[in-house]
Amino acid sequence: MENVPSSAKKKSPASRSVSGVLLAWYDRHARELPWRVGPKARKSGERPDPYAVWLSEIMLQQTTVATVAPRYAEFLARWPDVKAMAAAPLDDILGQWAGLGYYARARNLHKCAVVVAEEHDGVFPDTEEHLRALPGIGAYTAAAIAAIAFDRRAIVIDGNIERVVSRLYEIATPLPAAKEEIKVRLEEIWPAKRSGDFAQGLIDLGAGICRPKAPMCLLCPVSENCAAQKASRQENFPVKVARKAKPTRVGAVFALTNAKGEMLFERRPEKGLLGGMLGLPGTEWKENLNGDVFESAPAKAKWQKTGEATHTFTHFHLTLDVYAGAAPKGFRRSTDQQWIRPDEARLPTVMKKAVKAVEKG
Ligand code: SF4
Repeated sequence: MENVPSSAKKKSPASRSVSGVLLAWYDRHARELPWRVGPKARKSGERPDPYAVWLSEIMLQQTTVATVAPRYAEFLARWPDVKAMAAAPLDDILGQWAGLGYYARARNLHKCAVVVAEEHDGVFPDTEEHLRALPGIGAYTAAAIAAIAFDRRAIVIDGNIERVVSRLYEIATPLPAAKEEIKVRLEEIWPAKRSGDFAQGLIDLGAGICRPKAPMCLLCPVSENCAAQKASRQENFPVKVARKAKPTRVGAVFALTNAKGEMLFERRPEKGLLGGMLGLPGTEWKENLNGDVFESAPAKAKWQKTGEATHTFTHFHLTLDVYAGAAPKGFRRSTDQQWIRPDEARLPTVMKKAVKAVEKG
């Protein structure tokens, strides 16, 4: 703890009771989630399936519980264990992932399944260190799987937990620098037993009670321990550094259709945004649309602008001009292009919006 800020070294007198109070609250109020083994079932000996915990944690990175829940069930029904997923073609995983965003996760999901199936005989390692060595598993996910699936005393820190702890201790350091201090605080209160339940209890508390706006402190089991609540400064925490405004990029896409009502799609390059996903052919996405956009069209056709598709990615806003046209006689697609009926194509959200702009236009 050499480099820990001095405020983090002051141990709250009530800190020892946080874990007991929180676990008792979790026993009564745990959310029922499809990937979760609740506290009652756990007490009666049921153990979480590490494959299910891993799958849910990867899906939940950057995506909400409400969106993930039905999609998780589809994944689990299609690939009930890690060996089944490892044996599936990557294209099937990418197709099933369509619409969930952050497609590198889907590629890593497959890579990780292959490594676990081939190098670990289908059994997930049970320590943070070994989990961390797997593709697509970073510090947070390794700790979450170690705690939730294996009850290891691994310190889990997600956005919900950051918020709760920042408020409990009025941590004045802005995020992300505050993570170190948050970890020190969690080290103090993290129980040796029921580590997974404690992690999930903190996450549930942050998601349902200690919300970003208007936290429900009257219902909070740890309000007695909460410095921000006592000072009526709950919403001042966590402290964040002001974000820069997102830049906007622009581009154009071309929806070429044939006599069968199919549309021409091509697979995007493996590396980069939406890597490996299907999309409409088009220009690069840049600050300005300079030059002749039709040079990026898949054919010389009578292109009509039918509308725009807008989408916000993590680091920028995107506006695409959408053009539609009929395939000219004798048009031949290239090997990376496919004719697919638009309602049958597994597309990322931005491309779905572009296809919709064609249908509306
Ligand atoms: S008392 Fe309020 S601010 Fe403090 S942890 Fe509970 S809900 Fe969050």
